[in-house]
Amino acid sequence: MHGAAFEALGIDGEWSYGAIELAPEEFGRRVPELEADGYVGANVTVPHKRAALAISDDASEVARAIGASNTLSFREGRIHGENTDAAGLLASLPEPPGGKRALVLGAGGAARAVVWGLKNGDAEVEIWNRTAERAEELALHFGARAVTAGECEVGAYDIVVNATSVGMDRSTTTDGGGAGLKPLPIAADGLRANQVVVDLVYASGETELARAARERGATVVGGLEVLVHQGAESFRIWTGLDPPLEAMREAAKST
Ligand code: NAP
Repeated sequence: MHGAAFEALGIDGEWSYGAIELAPEEFGRRVPELEADGYVGANVTVPHKRAALAISDDASEVARAIGASNTLSFREGRIHGENTDAAGLLASLPEPPGGKRALVLGAGGAARAVVWGLKNGDAEVEIWNRTAERAEELALHFGARAVTAGECEVGAYDIVVNATSVGMDRSTTTDGGGAGLKPLPIAADGLRANQVVVDLVYASGETELARAARERGATVVGGLEVLVHQGAESFRIWTGLDPPLEAMREAAKST
């Protein structure tokens, strides 16, 4: 995605993006060395996002509020921590969430960024999670409301975000009958048009939730689209350039 963006802007001679695999115990030693190796920044993913915030000399308000950083910048020996996950979600919604009622499924790292983003965008946020205590903790932290499965009447929400890992191993192999939704408090028949359904799971095909929502006329935002937008925000931070979204989207789809 980033390589395609560098190419699209004709800066692939100066910029490159590659993966570095690090064990948790190597993170604190290796990351501060990266600037001397020519890196201007890094995306950080599971399980290092909290460590990335902890290692930052300064961090944005968003990263501190979410408690994790997915984007680091290296400047003159200092590490700056940012979090683009919430901005990525908001940028992928068809319209700002202000005044809308949102249901967030999940209470892990992704849900934390989603809840912060939606709350900060002035949505009314309710959270369901398989482990109810985690939903309650998250709701308390961000001023949202935790709900039980029985309270989730899916058609009552303007925005539904799946931030659980349910759907990761099903993607295209769904039965179309809603069985893949069983771990979630969602009845396929409850989904409706005029509703935005975001499935953060990035699968090469469609998840069962995305398919059920699309079939009922909802506006569906897939995980790949959110991924592209959070990547685009990181790109803007490192390069100071407008990200070529279409090139990034096409590259993300083809991998
Ligand atoms: P995480 O911190 O491990 O959280 C996993 C969440 O999924 C928890 O709420 C967990 O509930 C729930 N869960 C797992 N298995 C479940 C099941 N069988 N039934 C019901 N709930 C279940 O993971 P994460 O980092 O938040 O990531 C969550 C998902 O978002 C992953 O699919 C990840 O790939 C995706 N993601 C996408 C983007 C993007 O840009 N598109 C960005 C970040 C993450 P419990 O608390 O009960 O265990």
